[in-house]
Amino acid sequence: MECPHCQVNFHPQMGNMWIGTNGNGKQGHLFWQICLRCKEFIVCLKESDTFYQDPKTLEDSDILAFKKSQ
Ligand SMILES: [Zn+2]
Repeated sequence: MECPHCQVNFHPQMGNMWIGTNGNGKQGHLFWQICLRCKEFIVCLKESDTFYQDPKTLEDSDILAFKKSQ
């Protein structure tokens, strides 16, 4: 995974939390980490079709928002 701030590749060790089921029946998982290099926040949303799909896989997740580096 590439940090959206400093573009350095890192092995993600993100905190994750199930946030619920949306109106289309998708399961939502929130992921977060502070980049080890630039110390900025990285936050991702992963949607999956089933609750039991491995939420630790970040494939197809979307980076939602992050603080811009100065
Ligand atoms: Zn970074």
